[in-house]
Amino acid sequence: MSVVVLGSANLDVVIALQRIPSPGETVLTDTISRGCGGKGANQAVAVARSGAPTTFLGAVGNDDAGRMLLDGLAGAGADVSAVRRTDGSSGTAYVMVDAQGENAIVVIGGANAGYTDLTEAEADIIRRADVLLMQFEVPIETVTAAASIARAAGVQVMLNAAPYAELPADLLENLDLLIVNEHEAALSAGTQGTPEEVATVILGSVPGVLITLGAAGSLLATRGTEPVRINAPHVTAVDTTGAGDTFSGAYAAATVEGLPAVERLRFASAAAALAVQERGAVDAIPDRARIDEALR
Ligand code: ADP
Repeated sequence: MSVVVLGSANLDVVIALQRIPSPGETVLTDTISRGCGGKGANQAVAVARSGAPTTFLGAVGNDDAGRMLLDGLAGAGADVSAVRRTDGSSGTAYVMVDAQGENAIVVIGGANAGYTDLTEAEADIIRRADVLLMQFEVPIETVTAAASIARAAGVQVMLNAAPYAELPADLLENLDLLIVNEHEAALSAGTQGTPEEVATVILGSVPGVLITLGAAGSLLATRGTEPVRINAPHVTAVDTTGAGDTFSGAYAAATVEGLPAVERLRFASAAAALAVQERGAVDAIPDRARIDEALR
């Protein structure tokens, strides 16, 4: 039982500043760090650390960042043998974080932006999966094509619609589960309301929706069954970057493990609650032993 994660991989360049500069201003700092990131890579690491066999599909550049990203993913246990190494630069995210924890981010698509089609070999990898998990940091045409290949092969298709983009009909029709935070849920539904109300609207166009509610927990609604809502564990959050990615990846892993709905939510919530208690994105994603311990 395996998960294929198709998506972006970015070099994250994190610059810590007293405050984020205004236009025309220069601010000095010497606090800079580099790490693996990108929603696709984050989610692949979360699936792999959750203990499910994981294959990552995407593209990195033919540069040092590309090597670092492949090493980071493989180090977490993901199969990276089908990741493309393209001419040019890897995707890069420049993240400025101020003393209050507010951020401003510039993303350069790099190799991710060039991932515009799928080879027959990549399509075969998708067909052999049990779950296909995707996001919106690679071109939407690729996400749409992958969903259609997966659906035709009976693979469960999960899409974390972040960063938010409108969902075309030919993508919606091939989704099994839409994963969104509260903000993205309201945009998808085109209406505000309680999470239950918003979920009901979304169920008009997809068979399942999972809405994450930050510190307030999460809600899973699927057609024909009662919605399941759980609280998040009470923890002190120090950095919520990547909380949604950890949640999505852990949820996909719990799904291929065959856990019932409420257990899948509990597993994903435990993983995300651990992630928010540490700084960083990939570094903060917990492994299976820590998730199991938190659930005891
Ligand atoms: P995103 O990061 O995509 O905006 P959310 O903020 O909804 O998504 O967070 C995703 C999940 O991470 C939540 O459903 C919850 O399980 C967990 N989480 C986020 N913030 C906290 C928090 N402060 N305490 C505990 N869990 C949290």
